[in-house]
Amino acid sequence: MSEVFAVYGAAGCGRSLMPVAATQLKQLNSGSEAIFIDDSLDEEGFINSRQAMNYKQFKQLAFDNKHVLIAIADSDIRQKIADKLLIDGIHLWSVHGCTTLIMEKVVIDVGAAISPFVTIASNVTIGKCFHANLYSYVEHDCVIGDYVTFAPRVSCNGNVHIHDHAYIGAGAILKQGTPDKPLIIGEGAIIGMGAVVTRDVPAGDIVVGNPARSLKNKK
Ligand code: UDP
Repeated sequence: MSEVFAVYGAAGCGRSLMPVAATQLKQLNSGSEAIFIDDSLDEEGFINSRQAMNYKQFKQLAFDNKHVLIAIADSDIRQKIADKLLIDGIHLWSVHGCTTLIMEKVVIDVGAAISPFVTIASNVTIGKCFHANLYSYVEHDCVIGDYVTFAPRVSCNGNVHIHDHAYIGAGAILKQGTPDKPLIIGEGAIIGMGAVVTRDVPAGDIVVGNPARSLKNKK
């Protein structure tokens, strides 16, 4: 059965994830090379010496199975593309670096991009198309929804629940919750770079600083 593997998005996120994807393929001895898909391309060409084409061209390739990692930081775009891939019968591909450490009883849904030097501790559940950028960690007993994005070096401590489409900025620290009272980051919330989050963040809120405060509900 013939297979092809691709990284969707050839901007910063995609170009950083491509070597991770390529290494994973090499270790599987699949004999396939990962290619880029980017809709800004009118014609097939090369990006960082790798074959690159738009989605229409990719769809026309004659392979039995197609696997795609969506490497775009914007979670709404990730969801839109994931829905399109599902309709087209294309599989969401998960990629993780060889320096990634994943401990016990971790469940990660399809389409994850787990960058090098990320650690996911035990008893963690994560939804679809999660992005964990370089040096981030997720500690024990966290529950993470679909299309959640971690910029580099996010520190997500134990018993934190993060709902769908939340974005956690570079270097942010999320305080540990407890089994009875997890710290909650609401759906679509944005946590600013370097924020120290000590309290729940409501859905759609934007918080910054130490301790993190809302930019929307200034008191
Ligand atoms: N893109 C695409 N199809 C889409 C939406 C985005 O191919 O429907 C590509 C877009 O052309 C760009 C990349 O995805 O190259 C997204 O790049 P962005 O600048 O948002 O940064 P990144 O997600 O890499 O940080």
